[in-house]
Amino acid sequence: MTHIFPRHTAMRPPRAVKGDGCYIVDDTGKRYLDASGGAAVSCLGHSDQAVTEAVKAQLDAIAFAHTGFFTNGPAEDLADLLIAHAPEGLDRVYLVSGGSEATEAALKLARQYHLERGEPGRARIIARRQSYHGNTLGALSAGGNMWRREPFQPMLVEMSHIAPCYAYRGQADGESAEDYGRRVADELEAEILRLGPETVAAFIAEPVVGATLGAVPAVPGYFRRIREICDRHGVLLILDEVMCGMGRTGHLFACEADGVAPDILCIAKGLGAGYQPIGAMLCSAEIYRAIEEGTGFFQHGHTYIGHPAAAAAGRAVVTALVERGLVARAGAMGDTLKAALVERFGQHPHVGDIRGRGMFLGLELVADRESKAPFDPACRLNATIKKAAFANGLICYPMGGTIDGRSGDHVLLAPPFILEEAQVGELVDKLAGAIDSALATAVAA
Ligand code: PLP
Repeated sequence: MTHIFPRHTAMRPPRAVKGDGCYIVDDTGKRYLDASGGAAVSCLGHSDQAVTEAVKAQLDAIAFAHTGFFTNGPAEDLADLLIAHAPEGLDRVYLVSGGSEATEAALKLARQYHLERGEPGRARIIARRQSYHGNTLGALSAGGNMWRREPFQPMLVEMSHIAPCYAYRGQADGESAEDYGRRVADELEAEILRLGPETVAAFIAEPVVGATLGAVPAVPGYFRRIREICDRHGVLLILDEVMCGMGRTGHLFACEADGVAPDILCIAKGLGAGYQPIGAMLCSAEIYRAIEEGTGFFQHGHTYIGHPAAAAAGRAVVTALVERGLVARAGAMGDTLKAALVERFGQHPHVGDIRGRGMFLGLELVADRESKAPFDPACRLNATIKKAAFANGLICYPMGGTIDGRSGDHVLLAPPFILEEAQVGELVDKLAGAIDSALATAVAA
């Protein structure tokens, strides 16, 4: 008997009782290798003493002081730390409690920025298909995954969705990666012109698309072109690094690899590493100045923004990432893991693509490698892989609807950056076992 409202009513999950490095232990003593950090959260594993001590010390000092009255040390320090390492131009940090809150704040700040500058017509947001920006109504409106949007469609805000940069399926035969990137980036300009630039507030995208596409980075040059288009039309660039940020791709901020700096950047997940719920929206000095010289306040807010204990966790996590060299480690161990995946699955008849950066990797499953035909969604291949892996003590993050929100299957991997070389073998073996046992049922069906 339980009064918990679970993620699925048929779900009877085991109780997690202990964290031990890259493993979660349940109440029967079973150990699970966390190869996805839940959903790209647990970058430091599950038993980081420095972070837990930092949270405890903050709770002993003061747990909560409302930001309508006070600031606090951990929040100030965390903001300084983030800005010291952030892409050029970013200057202010708005601390929230998770990813959806970060993207909601970003969308509203973009709108308010234009209002403050006397451009009240700019309200339209352009996003991409097959993206995910969170589950609150604004964030869901920006998201481009049809399955997630569908039940709530009548409640969503109207936004535009252009193509993702998804080379495995979008790049045409004979087309170079650069030409492909330019072609899909130019969809942004076409949409801005169709709507009228004076109506467009911002473009939002994930530098490496996570949950809905399975670790898909853009091709070289894509984001540079996007930046140029935004600048040409006075449209703000919001990068959603909730999943791919905070070192996961081998860069503290994922967009470093793309050579662009956004006007607004969203982070969460790895920022608290699971030790506390925390997210952040970072914005440029210019955006902040528009608010400062205008109404003087961002018309937004939640009770728990800038929460001291959450900020203390964030400060300890970012300090660990920077001072323990864990961002570089994510890059290097990610390369090792990717090489092991290529070795095991590179010739696998049902693994069409192995992709991603650093400790943010994805495998796309196909019924046929040549034609890239997906499995029938009725097979529920991704769900079967998840179940088989979990039964065998492996946590990974498979998802369906990769191609269009309905068909296509991928497995997302986002292990802790502290993963040891010896654990790479365990991860790959267990994943191979889960994929092959799930495929045995899918192919037979
Ligand atoms: N943005 C991206 C890119 C995400 O991957 C997620 C969650 O998976 C979110 C936003 C929403 O974050 P949260 O679940 O913390 O609200």
